[in-house]
Amino acid sequence: MSRKETTKISCPNCGHHFQRDVWTLINVDTEPYLKTALVTGLLNLTRCPKCNYEYFLALPLVYHETKTRRVWCYIPEEMGNIAEREALALSMVSEFRQELNLMLRTLNRDVTPMQMEIALTYLESPRIFDEINEMVEELQQVEHPDSAGNEDDATAQLLAALEALQDVDSDKKFAAVLKAHSIFASSETPTHLRGLSELAQAYGDDEKAEYFNNLAGILESATGREADADALIEALAAIAEVSPEEDLDPVFLAHSILSKPESIERLRQAAVETDDENTAQFYCNVADMLEERQIAQLPPGLDEALQTFAEADSTEEHLAVITLHPVLHSPEAINYFQQQAAMAAQAEEKDVVEFWENLTEIMERIRSTEIGEDAEIHSD
Ligand SMILES: [Zn+2]
Repeated sequence: MSRKETTKISCPNCGHHFQRDVWTLINVDTEPYLKTALVTGLLNLTRCPKCNYEYFLALPLVYHETKTRRVWCYIPEEMGNIAEREALALSMVSEFRQELNLMLRTLNRDVTPMQMEIALTYLESPRIFDEINEMVEELQQVEHPDSAGNEDDATAQLLAALEALQDVDSDKKFAAVLKAHSIFASSETPTHLRGLSELAQAYGDDEKAEYFNNLAGILESATGREADADALIEALAAIAEVSPEEDLDPVFLAHSILSKPESIERLRQAAVETDDENTAQFYCNVADMLEERQIAQLPPGLDEALQTFAEADSTEEHLAVITLHPVLHSPEAINYFQQQAAMAAQAEEKDVVEFWENLTEIMERIRSTEIGEDAEIHSD
């Protein structure tokens, strides 16, 4: 929802003409990274491609946040007298009012367009700033009405966390900083950092752009690994509860992490690292079992058979494919379909779940009639 415009600029240092994307509206609800960019001075920062002169583009800017009903406008003094600058602020705000109305109503369907219009009347009295620094200083000071300090503010938290990273000179310290700042674990932080990276790239600071981008990647893989580790621990606890003569299939269906090849590697690693002999043995046993199952997971020819099956578009064609590829109703295949259904269920992909469940049902039915026929033949 935030806006930028491609603008023709002439360098105040050397007079060179060039074009830049200039942000004219920051909507913190949808693009929180732009608030961080504003506070850190990255927003509308530009560098002359000819003489490398670096400066802030002093052009009108609207700052908006629904939660705090904050509609702040930076209108440089040279844009005219107070009345003219006020008129400019109002026209910039009214341009996005309709869009905001629509967006907020899609989030809150009980509200009528009229009610939303009334709720948005605060947009008619934007606060005007002469200096961008005044706006930034106030942003850093103001407290959210719904918190004691700035603690629920992602920008403030991220800035503190990034500052802490500045002093890091070892992997150990790096890990400690990541752990100490919960904002690094937020699923939104990588997106936030990538936004900042793009801005840095846009004004030509490749080093900064790379730094933000790398950090985003590190955080993503760290949170992914952590979630996987938690899931694996849960799955191991479930396996430990099953007695040796019981079937493990339900555990495998409920814990899709067990079908990930990385889990085997991780268990072997954990077995080496633990001091407890019994635990190490348990990890090894589970790893062996996973290896066996994963090899058995996709029977030969199933991949091709599934593709042909998916391409068939009539009952006759489906039956022909099933006859041609008996692997489709092998116990291994059915087991594989069930695993896929369970995995899709965990990812909450309803259509995919339905597809695998239907396939399981069809193949199970075919299988039971076949076994029935075999039994008849044998009884002869
Ligand atoms: Zn220049």
